[in-house]
Amino acid sequence: MRAPRPTRLQGWGRQSRLGIERRGEDLERLGAVARLSRGLGRSYGDSSLPAADGEIVLNTTLADRILAFDEATGLVRAEAGLSLVDLHRITLPKLMFSPVTPGTQFVTLGGMVAADVHGKNQHTAGNFGDHVTKLRVRVADGRVIECSPDEHPDLFSATIGGMGLTGHILEVEFRLERIPSAAIVQESVRIANVDEFQEELEASAKEWPFSMGWIDAITGGASLGRGVLYRGRWATPEEVAGSPPRPRRAAQLPVDFPSWVLNPASIRAFNALKYHSHVPRVQRRVVGIEELFYPLDAIHDWHRMYGARGFTQYQCVLPRRAGKGSARRVLTLLSNLGAASFLCVIKDFGREGRGILSFPTPGITLAIDIPIRPDTPDVVRALNALVLELGGRVYLAKDSFTTADELARMDPRVEEFQRVREVWDPERRFRSAQSVRLLGDSP
Ligand SMILES: Cc1cc2nc3c(=O)[nH]c(=O)nc-3n(C[C@H](O)[C@H](O)[C@H](O)COP(=O)(O)OP(=O)(O)OC[C@H]3O[C@@H](n4cnc5c(N)ncnc54)[C@H](O)[C@@H]3O)c2cc1C
Repeated sequence: MRAPRPTRLQGWGRQSRLGIERRGEDLERLGAVARLSRGLGRSYGDSSLPAADGEIVLNTTLADRILAFDEATGLVRAEAGLSLVDLHRITLPKLMFSPVTPGTQFVTLGGMVAADVHGKNQHTAGNFGDHVTKLRVRVADGRVIECSPDEHPDLFSATIGGMGLTGHILEVEFRLERIPSAAIVQESVRIANVDEFQEELEASAKEWPFSMGWIDAITGGASLGRGVLYRGRWATPEEVAGSPPRPRRAAQLPVDFPSWVLNPASIRAFNALKYHSHVPRVQRRVVGIEELFYPLDAIHDWHRMYGARGFTQYQCVLPRRAGKGSARRVLTLLSNLGAASFLCVIKDFGREGRGILSFPTPGITLAIDIPIRPDTPDVVRALNALVLELGGRVYLAKDSFTTADELARMDPRVEEFQRVREVWDPERRFRSAQSVRLLGDSP
């Protein structure tokens, strides 16, 4: 039999490595040969890429069975390769929904645990990991371990948000949320600048379970950080009957855009149109889940818009103690660096996650798409210096350019994470391109 040939594996931002992808239904068996698991590759940076060219990576997407589902309590146990879109296809008609969802449905349960993803309800519901009751993990010495807050709690809290570095997650058990309908009452509000955004997000958090804002990150001065705030709550059956949402059909982006398409002038024009056309200032509608939760899923492969060079998403959290003007300082720096961002999102966080390395902390998070240019590492370096000064940190599921030294200074929890790895994987069997860059693993 011929040995499998390496293929080019990509993160969502289009960074790539040569790797051998093993795919199959039996994750426990295939896990014996792979040094990293990978789901649907929706992490933007290099966390799902092999540490060295040609290394074996376990693609989990064929292991997608629901193993148990208690409709009375919402408790569900499934294989780690099950995608959120497939889970919702089954549970949404029963009016049950994931308690936390990221901004795309094309993620696996394993990827949601490994990044400890947050959603538009982080301020009320916390992260996905807060709703996980049990994990089944194949660890470095080949054992399959059930872990939970009571069983092997160190492995449990290192695996949640541990970016695949504690082992292969085979199964995930968590509790779905019961919902009154499969639609959302969405309110959108035009916001004049980033300071108003910070205030409005905090005010909305008291009343609305879901909130986030789209920011025009290119217009400066008094309008810096203007945009549209979206907030939502589940609709009642009466509200849906009165105004049923229109179903959405996703389109496809068939080719890579040339890199000149997204330039400061085109981004400025798009942003101005989006901002000024939001009339009246406050709008309220009943919408389908896709419109509030998954606007980017409307175009499959939308990342091709950034061309073959790809992009990085710089996502940081600025803690409350950094003060009111903290988000303005980050956007001002971004503008001074000339890094025009097509997409910039702002959201507030209400609490820390349960994982040792979970990203959120109470405060404001900014997620900024930056097309890759020769100076992108310098842009990230400058942004990191400011985020460090403000006491914040970056999100590993998005990161591509932070250095080991910057991470160590941003996040003292790395030491505890490494201590747990030392117990479960002293030889560092599990590693990724990201762990080589950030945690000193050997390539
Ligand atoms: C359009 C878009 C919107 C997004 N919005 C949000 C958001 O709102 N909030 C948020 O938190 N994130 C968001 N993300 C990021 C995304 O939710 C995470 O990166 C998630 O981890 C991707 O899941 P995946 O299955 O594609 O995992 P991959 O990208 O394939 O892998 C991500 C990490 O998980 C590990 N992993 C995957 N499966 C396993 C397994 N079975 N066992 C062990 N480790 C595993 C990988 O090793 C890697 O470190 C968004 C991404 C996109 C593209």
